[in-house]
Amino acid sequence: MANSLTIPSIDLPGNVSIPQFGLGVFQVPPEKTFENVTFALNAGYRHLDTARAYQNEAQVGQAVKASGLSREEVFITTKLWNTDQTDAIGTLKESLGLLETEYVDLYLIHWPAPGHGNYVQAWTALVEAQKEGLARAIGVSNFQASHLRQIVEATGVTPAVNQIELHPLLTQPGLRREHADRGIVTEAWSPLAQGAVLDDAVITEIAAAHSRTPGQIVLRWHVELGNVVFPKSMTPSRIEENIDIFDFELTTEEVERIEALDRGHRTGPDPDTFNG
Ligand code: NDP
Repeated sequence: MANSLTIPSIDLPGNVSIPQFGLGVFQVPPEKTFENVTFALNAGYRHLDTARAYQNEAQVGQAVKASGLSREEVFITTKLWNTDQTDAIGTLKESLGLLETEYVDLYLIHWPAPGHGNYVQAWTALVEAQKEGLARAIGVSNFQASHLRQIVEATGVTPAVNQIELHPLLTQPGLRREHADRGIVTEAWSPLAQGAVLDDAVITEIAAAHSRTPGQIVLRWHVELGNVVFPKSMTPSRIEENIDIFDFELTTEEVERIEALDRGHRTGPDPDTFNG
């Protein structure tokens, strides 16, 4: 089984290093979260992606505390929900209380929610929160190029990451270019397209060629593109399988064949119109 030492990290501004692989806990019920996170930490996971909206921050925090790992050994991300954008610092402090920690490693605006018109105000508050030490790094999620431009123009501060829906059925070439131009790290949510890509013939053929599972092939593809990923699984064997991707490589041709599966297919909402 892979351990944390084998997981690559990516540098973010401000001397922050983010493990390129972790566990996402969207749709993990609160009563299952402690067990889920505990299993993952024991399997070598050192990066947890939660959100206020997932309603399981308290259980994530309890699992980290009970793990015996020091706070510095686990990278914790949480996110500001759309209806809280006018009180980002107050909401972050509530999240810190639930997580039982004095800081998060990464705090994100969950969606631009343009209908509310508050994301520039929220970003200004996140810049302040980072200065106060409440978040080591700050970023956004589901921001399109126009939203990125607005917050950078308003504050002069570029988000460290943009967490976007990204998988072989939605490869986001335009936004990835925008991120590269701005020095923003790409985080890929629903990296497995919630399972929808795993029986694709190209994926299963490449999996057979490497004697790996389709899930491992898709996650390895993300890693080779430079994406940060945190697949969700509540199945112990899959939690172990998903992290076991750091001892093989795809060929350039395989990476390109997976990239060619793009058909602009979203599993989640459109960020230009979703207000939550
Ligand atoms: P994923 O692409 O991670 O897929 C999760 C689904 O795939 C689950 O049904 C899981 O089943 C299954 N699965 C996991 N591993 C395997 C495997 N090896 N083989 C087959 N099936 C597998 O989707 P998510 O939407 O959960 O995204 C991951 C994370 O991204 C979230 O938990 C969250 O942290 C983040 N996210 C962020 C969003 C945002 O707006 N910023 C939006 C959505 C997600 P099972 O649990 O039964 O094993």
